[in-house]
Amino acid sequence: MRKIRLDKFLANMGVGSRKEVKDLIRKGLVRINDAIYKSPKATVNPNEDKVEVNGEQIIYKPFIYLMLNKPAGYITATEDRVHKTVLDLIRDEDKVLDPFPVGRLDKDTEGLLIITNDGKLAHHLLSPNKDIFKTYIAHVQRDITEEDIEAFQNGLELDDGYQTKPALLKSLGDKRVEVKITEGKFHQVKRMFEARGNKVVYLKRVSMGDLNLDEELKLSEYRELTDEELAILR
Ligand code: URA
Repeated sequence: MRKIRLDKFLANMGVGSRKEVKDLIRKGLVRINDAIYKSPKATVNPNEDKVEVNGEQIIYKPFIYLMLNKPAGYITATEDRVHKTVLDLIRDEDKVLDPFPVGRLDKDTEGLLIITNDGKLAHHLLSPNKDIFKTYIAHVQRDITEEDIEAFQNGLELDDGYQTKPALLKSLGDKRVEVKITEGKFHQVKRMFEARGNKVVYLKRVSMGDLNLDEELKLSEYRELTDEELAILR
């Protein structure tokens, strides 16, 4: 593995911001293989060098970020004794870092699923307080009306009494709609249409926040997120 700058390594490992870790280094609090290094430009090989901050070893744990175009027929879980899971679609070499799916798509739902081992990012994307829109394309049994659009906007009462947050609904014609929601309750999109006496017959997630599903990815295919895509998500 290539050597990387000490400040970048520490920041990537979550020790602090780039500025904070530079301060720690300059203060002489960082050791590489038992020797103090006071320059943030010092380099380390994360697989070979022992790096300590304040006497505590920083264990190298790289992150992995994958974008999967989930097909129907797979459950969103890391393992299951009966069903195929989305992790069955991930090659072994990409599973060594224990990635997990961010949020859940139903077994029959297709589309954008992020698979990562970065718990902080997962939390950020799913936190109900962050109001990050997830965009879906749904095919429904009957065309939507202006009343449906208003009801989604105002928040609907689901079958269990839960009041949904404002959601955006747009007709794409021919019983196809675009739905944007910030929450991720169980079967939420399907239950929102049910609350309007309608039914979802096909569902696909196309975006999370400003990250769009790469339409070049065929169903079941995945690739790593680019640095630009990762920056969008954070
Ligand atoms: N809403 C649903 O009903 N199902 C999904 O898979 C995602 C959102």
